[in-house]
Parts: sequence; C-alpha cells; structure tokens
Amino acid sequence: MVELKNVSVTYQNGVEALHNVNLTIHDEEFAFVVGESGAGKSTLIKLLIKEIDATSGSVKVNGFDLGKLKQKDVPKLRRTIGFVFQDFKLINTMNVYDNVAFVLRSIDAPLKYIRKRVPYVIGLVGLKDKMKAYPTEMSGGEQQRVALARALVNDPKLIIADEPTGNLDPKTSIEIIQLLQGINQCGTTVLMVTHEHELVKRFGGRTISILDGQIKFDDII
Ligand code: ADP
Repeated sequence: MVELKNVSVTYQNGVEALHNVNLTIHDEEFAFVVGESGAGKSTLIKLLIKEIDATSGSVKVNGFDLGKLKQKDVPKLRRTIGFVFQDFKLINTMNVYDNVAFVLRSIDAPLKYIRKRVPYVIGLVGLKDKMKAYPTEMSGGEQQRVALARALVNDPKLIIADEPTGNLDPKTSIEIIQLLQGINQCGTTVLMVTHEHELVKRFGGRTISILDGQIKFDDII
C-alpha cells in the first residue's frame, strides 16, 4: 500500500515539485499516473523509493514509514518494489536468464530457488524460448518483457512502471499494459506512469492526474 499524507517536496533551488499531495493506493490496485512533463511524476516516484525525502508530510510504502526509515534499511523497502523503465535498463552482456537471475543472485537467494523461479517468470511474460537470447537480439517489446520478468522475479508487492511504453509502438504498448494487468490480477499492485492519454483512455481504470505538483484528478475513467 502507498499512502501520502499532506506531502510537499521543495527542491534545493526552491522549486516546489509536489504541493500538499494526499494519495492512497491500496494493495492489488492498478493505477495510472498521468501528467505533462514537469508536473511532478518523477518526484512522486523518487519519494516512493526514498531517493528523496518529503519536505513535509508523511509517506508510507508497503508498511514502511519512509520518514522514519533509516538509510541502511532503504534496500529492504526497495526489495518490495519492482521497477520497469522506459529504456528497459537491461544488461546487454547478459542473456535473458541472467538478466532476471541477477536480481536474485544479488540478494543471495538459494540456487535451487533461482533455477525454479527465473524460468517461471520468464514464462509468465511469454519468453520461454528466448531464455538464452541477448537483449541486443530482441525487439523493444521483448526487451520490455524481460524487464517485466526482472521486476517480478523477487515477488514484489508493488510494481512501478515509469513510462514503460515510451519506446514502443502502439501495438506493443498494448501488449505490455495487458501483461501488467495480468500481473496485477495475480495480486501485485501496479503504478504506471505515462503521458500517453490515448492508452489510458483505451484501458481505463484508476487514473491519477498530476498538474503543477498537485493531484488534479483521481478517479476511475
Ligand atoms: P515530471 O516527472 O512530471 O516531468 P518532475 O518531478 O521531474 O516532473 O519535476 C517537477 C518539477 O520539479 C519541475 O519543475 C522540475 O523542473 C523540478 N525538478 C525536478 N527535479 C529537480 C531537482 N533535482 N532539482 C530542482 N528541481 C527539480
């Protein structure tokens, strides 16, 4: 669950990027966050992963009170969140299997678990036959599927997808959102940031619109 209460963020240069934001996203919800460039979307995401702190107000994510969370415990918070980025951020020298396994290896997961879990999530995103392929041999849509598998592999409570369709054609974008919806239906909360209003309209659902650092609209469309 994500809960922001009276949250404002002012950067050191005096820009107030978020102003008195109140927002609750319950477990198992799917929400779009929309807004033009400069609206405050990235600031919101940075808050949720404690890359920055609120100037005032409280932020709670997956049971962590971020105002009280010590820096040394931030990895614990981040392990409950899976990320998907616009530019995929895959490691080009690793094949699909290793790109996904990397996450579990970095937290010293047992080898037996890795060998079971990694093929499972790669299968979930429809890439079972591409396990040994390298990112440079794959289409954008396939690469984003790998990124989705990587986000999922540690069984996060929340997936934050930051403009995940920004580099994809319309058809592939729809496939990626459908995959995210499937993941959501299996119980993972999904927060998808996008500026593509057409996609949001097509899928509908909870849509949080940010304008000038404030929530202008938060409803089901
Ligand atoms: P979005 O992701 O919607 O494009 P941002 O959250 O990046 O919006 O930016 C919100 C506002 O905060 C903008 O006016 C931007 O210029 C400003 N801003 C973002 N990051 C910083 C920073 N590190 N220092 C100062 N101002 C920033």
